[in-house]
Amino acid sequence: MDIAALRRGTPGCAHRTHLNNAGAALLSHRTLRTMTAHLELEARIGGYEAANERLPEIREVYDAVAALLGGRADEVALFDNATHAWQAAFLAVPLGPGDRILTGRSEYGSNLLGFVHAARRTGAEVVVVPDDEHGQIDTTALAGLLDERTKLVGVAHVPTDGGLVNPVAEVGRLTRRAGVPFLLDATQSVGQFPVDVEETGCDMLVGTGRKFLRGPRGIGFLWVRTGILDRLDPYVCETASAQWDGGLGFRWRDGATRFATWEMNYAAVLGLGSAVRQALDLGQDAIGERALALGTALRERLDALPGVRTHDRGLTRCAIVTAEVEGMAAAEVKSLLGRQGINVTVTHGEDGPRFDEKDPGFPSLVRLSPHYYNTEEELDRAADALAELARRAQPR
Ligand SMILES: *Cc1c(COP(=O)(O)O)cnc(C)c1O
Repeated sequence: MDIAALRRGTPGCAHRTHLNNAGAALLSHRTLRTMTAHLELEARIGGYEAANERLPEIREVYDAVAALLGGRADEVALFDNATHAWQAAFLAVPLGPGDRILTGRSEYGSNLLGFVHAARRTGAEVVVVPDDEHGQIDTTALAGLLDERTKLVGVAHVPTDGGLVNPVAEVGRLTRRAGVPFLLDATQSVGQFPVDVEETGCDMLVGTGRKFLRGPRGIGFLWVRTGILDRLDPYVCETASAQWDGGLGFRWRDGATRFATWEMNYAAVLGLGSAVRQALDLGQDAIGERALALGTALRERLDALPGVRTHDRGLTRCAIVTAEVEGMAAAEVKSLLGRQGINVTVTHGEDGPRFDEKDPGFPSLVRLSPHYYNTEEELDRAADALAELARRAQPR
């Protein structure tokens, strides 16, 4: 990987030490040009006409997302974010009283709310699988919980608030054996390291454009295994997802199109395509190797600092690093780093769900998430800045 060239091709690298790739990564010039060119075309000839003119490129976006995940293009639907993609998948799973949804403790907040909301409406029950001693989902416990009541397993590959990588291939092996649909939230993993739908054994997968994929904001995607379609009943029926049968009946459209809605931001669609192509050109293995190495290097630098501690759980860890500066609130750390041009963010520790009375919860932490285009020098800059804040927080 030619890091210097990749940085020259990323306008934001000139202005910021961007360690918020788990929030939104920096766009490349190539993606930015793709999007602005489409907006200009829309302005010049009309929005519908511009989409028509770019139809082959728009179709290729589905091919690119499928190639990224190891699936088929007709198994891909696009949405305005990962949350809506996830809801399209989840709300298509038929649920009734006594049915069970199994999830993990590191599930995304909006997904948990979706589970709880559906349970309230249908009489189904949400069962939270415990973590093992490493802090990842306990697959032995999961195996014991999978029974005929289980209608769905929903797990986050990488949580939004830490470096944990869940053992999703093992989850997929168990759900396949039990014949239970597996909805994988790969929003933080796709684009960061290779994610393959066959290797993970998931039946539905969601991701977003803006995070480690380096696509634009406001675009997400769903992949649905063809073999599971007849067990799903899409929640939204509209002209993109269904076809009138001539009377007052309808037929779902083929493949994942049955989950889609008609209107789309095609500049964002094409921007997603450009970002995915770039990831494919660079190679997911090479991206993953470098991103994970930078994550490990940053974690080691921070753990070596007096007054700074990292909190990432799991046996396998990724490029998301969460840290605490003793004696200083995470929000203040973020704001002081921001003044030095270092972009980080803060986890929602205190606002997160408590799964039981004994659950102590977590304090809010500073989240630093490098990506392959970051440099060792940037990690040093962030570590030096945190060391200085830690010194300031604990005057001797
Ligand atoms: C960001 C995130 C989401 C939601 O993605 P949106 O595109 O913001 O809807 C879901 N799951 C995880 C793990 C995330 O980090």
